[in-house]
Amino acid sequence: MSNQPILQVKGIDKSFADVEVLKNISIDIEKGELVTFIGPSGSGKTTLLRVLGGFHPQTAGEIVINGESVDHLPPEKRMTGMVFQNYALFPHMTVYKNVEYGLKLLKKSTKEKQALIQEALAQVQLEGYEDRKPSELSGGQQQRVAIARCLVLKPKVLLLDEPLSNLDANLRMTMRDEIRRLKEELNLTIVFVTHDQEEALSISDRVLVLKDGIVQQLASPTEVYQYPANEFVANFVGHAN
Ligand code: ADP
Repeated sequence: MSNQPILQVKGIDKSFADVEVLKNISIDIEKGELVTFIGPSGSGKTTLLRVLGGFHPQTAGEIVINGESVDHLPPEKRMTGMVFQNYALFPHMTVYKNVEYGLKLLKKSTKEKQALIQEALAQVQLEGYEDRKPSELSGGQQQRVAIARCLVLKPKVLLLDEPLSNLDANLRMTMRDEIRRLKEELNLTIVFVTHDQEEALSISDRVLVLKDGIVQQLASPTEVYQYPANEFVANFVGHAN
């Protein structure tokens, strides 16, 4: 069973009231893959990410992570970690305390927690910043704290909701490299929502193109760019034929 996909999405529908937002979404994501969701505003990218993380129950379908159906599990038990767009760091807490917060539900000794927190901070290259407050950090560093707060729980899948959208252009480039580095070094599976096609094509192993809650294509950036599945995809990724 070791070579099954780490994340299996099987026929997911999602409606809010009587509005169907996701329609029969089925995707498999392999361990260590970085997959981005792209599509126009309102196409369902964020909703799909939240359904995966357990923040919205799906209307139909099944989600399997690491071979286990997680539909009945709340977000903190799904082996996923979610980084929200605004990071949601606690401004009054130090970096250390912010990361420790990720562990609050785990029954571990202080010493074990310390080791996990130091490991997570090292993974995002923030050793030595333990005692700083978020306001004493750059936007990129704040983002790394938010990522460390997830990594400390050793998630099987990291879910990132437009993580770079609040950063300036230079920082965006740096953080792209940073996210790729994390993926490579930790063999981490990352699912990433962005509204920036260029970003998606540059960072991803595969890109999922959504339109009106329907998957248009799931393929490598090169494939999506060179062999778009339809005219919508061609136009959306900026391929003018
Ligand atoms: P995207 O991330 O691609 O911009 P969203 O997933 O945010 O798209 O939204 C998809 C659709 O679902 C939109 O029409 C949006 O209005 C609707 N929607 C999202 N969240 C909710 C909600 N909590 N209640 C009702 N409708 C929602």
